[in-house]
Parts: sequence; structure tokens; C-alpha cells
Amino acid sequence: MTNLDNLYREIIMEHYKNPRNKGLLDDPRYTKIRIKNPSCGDDITVQTLVEKGIIKDCRQEATGCSISVASASVLTEIMINKPVDEAIRLAENFLNMVSNKEYDETLDLEEAEVFGGVKQFPARIKCASIAWVAFKDTLGKE
Ligand code: ZN
Repeated sequence: MTNLDNLYREIIMEHYKNPRNKGLLDDPRYTKIRIKNPSCGDDITVQTLVEKGIIKDCRQEATGCSISVASASVLTEIMINKPVDEAIRLAENFLNMVSNKEYDETLDLEEAEVFGGVKQFPARIKCASIAWVAFKDTLGKE
């Protein structure tokens, strides 16, 4: 293992133990999508509040493996206060990165870069992706 792998692992474990923006709100202004990954037991719900084209809030409730839970946590941190069009672009870029497709390396994925390594583990790609797919769904994007 390289030092970079260790650092990435530490960031993932830190988000797994201390998930950000955890807990859903009972507020009709939010859009909520839940996605499960039966192969791993991951169960992820993402909730977003959009106002005037900006992601004003992004919340999550995630149970499952460390990668899926950490990915949901990192997602919420990155997306809050982003314009919707930029948020969608970042989510698509992230999904391409983890599934080993072509992606724009100049777009700043911030801490989400730590999930770049999952493309080497096909079984974990879905774990890293679920929250981001759910997030896009909350914005009405397939
Ligand atoms: Zn998983």
C-alpha cells in the first residue's frame, strides 16, 4: 500500500465514523430518494433542498459498508451551496471516475477524489456510486 492509499483509507474511515449531515428532515420542501444495494446491504437515502438554483441543503441517512456510508457523507459536504448545474456535472464526473470511464480530471471533486481507487474493485463501484445516483435523482436527473 502506498501512503496515498493509506491517506484515502483514513479519510473514508473518518467519514464512516463521523458521517456529515446525517439524519433526514420531515420537511416537504426537500426531495428524497432511497436506493438499496442488496449485494452489500447498503441502504442510502439522500435528501436535497434547492432554492433559486442552489443546493441549499443536502442530507443523508446511510447504513451499510464503509465505502457507501463515507461516500454519502462526502457527497453532502461537497454539494451544499453548489449551483444545481455544477452539482450535476460533479456527480456525473464522480460516477464516471469510480466506474473507470472517461472523466474530466480538471473538475475539482474535493474529498471525493479518495474514491477514485474503487474502480480497481468492481464489486465496490456500486457502493461508492449509490449516494451520488440518489442525489442526481433528487434533482430529477437520471
Ligand atoms: Zn457496500
